[in-house]
Amino acid sequence: MLAEQVNLYRELAKELAKEFAPKAAHWDQTRRYCHENIKSLVKARLMGMTIPKEYGGLGASFYDCALVIEEIAKACTLTARIVVEANMGGISAVMAYGTHEQKTFCAPIVLAGDKPAICITEPDAGSAATEMQTTARKSGNKYILNGTKHWITGGGVSKLHLIFARVLDENGNEEGIGGFIVHRDPEQGIEPKGFDVVRRERTMGLCGMPEAELKFSNLEVGEEWLLQLSTGLKRGFAQLMEAYNSQRVGAGTIAMGVAAGALDRAKEYLKKREQFGRPLAEFQGLQWMIADMDASVHASRLMLKEAAKSAQTSPTGFPDMMMAARAKLFASEAAIKTVNDALQMFGARGYGDQEPLERMYRDVRMFTIGGGTAQILRTQVAGKLLDMKVSQTRDGYVEESFHVKAAKA
Ligand SMILES: Cc1cc2nc3c(=O)[nH]c(=O)nc-3n(C[C@H](O)[C@H](O)[C@H](O)COP(=O)(O)OP(=O)(O)OC[C@H]3O[C@@H](n4cnc5c(N)ncnc54)[C@H](O)[C@@H]3O)c2cc1C
Repeated sequence: MLAEQVNLYRELAKELAKEFAPKAAHWDQTRRYCHENIKSLVKARLMGMTIPKEYGGLGASFYDCALVIEEIAKACTLTARIVVEANMGGISAVMAYGTHEQKTFCAPIVLAGDKPAICITEPDAGSAATEMQTTARKSGNKYILNGTKHWITGGGVSKLHLIFARVLDENGNEEGIGGFIVHRDPEQGIEPKGFDVVRRERTMGLCGMPEAELKFSNLEVGEEWLLQLSTGLKRGFAQLMEAYNSQRVGAGTIAMGVAAGALDRAKEYLKKREQFGRPLAEFQGLQWMIADMDASVHASRLMLKEAAKSAQTSPTGFPDMMMAARAKLFASEAAIKTVNDALQMFGARGYGDQEPLERMYRDVRMFTIGGGTAQILRTQVAGKLLDMKVSQTRDGYVEESFHVKAAKA
């Protein structure tokens, strides 16, 4: 039954991919968000497919979702990112940690086509995320948010936002980092005072996706919109980051899907294109390249599947941190190389825009940066291997050096 269901998800995604592929260049060139594709995703119930059935979703696993993401990423990276963020990351944190009221509020918005935005990064807090300066100070039954977030995917088009901030009590004492759900939907007249979309970045790839800077100036958020974490606010960031492991699996799967799409195109082209009186496929130099491309896509897929499946048995309900970090690290780097090699096989044609490879190359480049850079993922993997508690704080690194020194002494 499960296998049948999984196949259905994949088959459904393959059908949709046929619809999405012809317009992928359009979203890239016009830098427009693909609202049209989202309508098809909503109809197919893939927006919010991982939301539990009692809240209107399909209750699909992250593994099911990864199958969908791979197929869609082969056709349109932008649309695949929307599928990731409508099922993993922000919404999965709300469904895991939210109150019944928060879930009841957020689920229908996602099911109707929203891709929530996760707001963590700030101008002075990128990899060192816990150095964020955005504050949420308690005032009666509200929190008052102040700060700036940048590189927020979907900023300006997303309706739901999960904003991370340092939570302060009424006296300004810090209680840890918390996540606040904030709803913004100007088309429906929902424009919270003190929530400004300051500007949109001009990006190299994934051009249809807004990456925006958001500014919060005395933004009032009711206390009922703070995600209540079972471990208490002080460990809030660590717990919220558990949910992020699902997004990492999603991001890695997009990268792998783009690479798999590039590999498919390269295979066809090598058989078709002739030089020196022979198909390119007969040149051993290219045969070895394509074998390596296949091996790296296959290895990425296996690692990502392992990470996605780990959620089904993990105590948190999210993918294992080590598996997710390792898979995203490997898949993102491998995908950049694979797409680059595919482009090379097309010669000048690959460099021009009559083939999608130049777009795929620009799109895939971001996956070693967004959602945890390759360096930070390596640090996390190494920390686990070496049994060191690596944290993304300045103090964490100081502590580690001390720990290592102590161990050596
Ligand atoms: C397309 C895109 C979408 C994004 N979407 C979102 C989003 O929706 N929400 C959100 O909150 N953020 C988002 N981000 C931000 C992303 O999470 C950050 O870019 C990332 O965490 C890195 O931060 P930074 O860019 O400030 O780089 P920095 O932290 O300044 O790092 C610069 C370089 O130094 C390296 N480096 C830093 N610290 C170390 C270390 N300790 N050891 C070794 N190397 C190190 C990094 O790996 C990197 O190569 C997005 C970014 C991109 C590009």
